[in-house]
Amino acid sequence: LVEIADVSKSYGGTRVLRDVSLTVAPGEVLALIGPSGSGKSTLLRTINHLETVDSGSVTVDGQYIGYERRGDRLHELPEKDVLERRTQIGIVFQNFNLFPHLTAIGNVVAAPIALRRASKTEARAQGLALLDRVGLADKADHYPRQLSGGQQQRVAIARALALAPKVLLFDEPTSALDPELVGEVLDVIRGLARDGTTLLIVTHEIGFAREVADRVAFLEHGEILEEGPPAQVLLNPRHPRTQDFLSKVL
Ligand code: ATP
Ligand code: MG
Repeated sequence: LVEIADVSKSYGGTRVLRDVSLTVAPGEVLALIGPSGSGKSTLLRTINHLETVDSGSVTVDGQYIGYERRGDRLHELPEKDVLERRTQIGIVFQNFNLFPHLTAIGNVVAAPIALRRASKTEARAQGLALLDRVGLADKADHYPRQLSGGQQQRVAIARALALAPKVLLFDEPTSALDPELVGEVLDVIRGLARDGTTLLIVTHEIGFAREVADRVAFLEHGEILEEGPPAQVLLNPRHPRTQDFLSKVL
């Protein structure tokens, strides 16, 4: 479903992604781990074209998000087409990034209404169902500042689901949370995994990755050094750098 092929990216003279290839199959849960600065967020952002790539390609369901192929050349798409294609991908950031002036339900229905995917009444009904799914049906009319970090992140997940994306990307969804709030967010992600949602999760929660991921990839200095089933990569890593990283975070 997600196909990342030979992607390289530099900032200034520094290569932050080096020929990265990675795929996520439909219904699969891929956990991406690696040290700070290894390029995890940059890689995630290339998927929905929040970052361009210098070389290589990223497609979702066979389609480029920021480009269109004409003959053997890629042409950059106008912003409105990019926005339309980007709706196939949900993304949840570390810091929730909710609209502060909108309620929980307002955050969830904003995109479907703006894109005229549903009437206000339909969008609200669907939005309430999504809030219920993340355990927040009773907080629909609360503003972000009236919610805990864990609740805000669950609203962000409901919002990411509102356009029925083909894949959901998570960038360290629990790392800004107080420890006692991590569990409620991981529970929601667990539920999504169980329901067969395609997920790509950047996480430092190694135990969680072991439990929910079908595959784990280890990124260091912009390179995938190792990937495979969690039992292999996390419990029996082949690469000395993976071993070293895990010995520090576990
Ligand atoms: P962390 O675990 O700390 O979130 P990360 O693996 O997500 O790290 P990235 O944020 O992808 O790492 O950053 C990879 C490298 O690219 C880092 O060296 C970072 O300083 C650099 N970088 C990221 N974004 C930019 C930017 N917009 N301009 C210049 N350098 C950048
Ligand atoms: Mg990051």
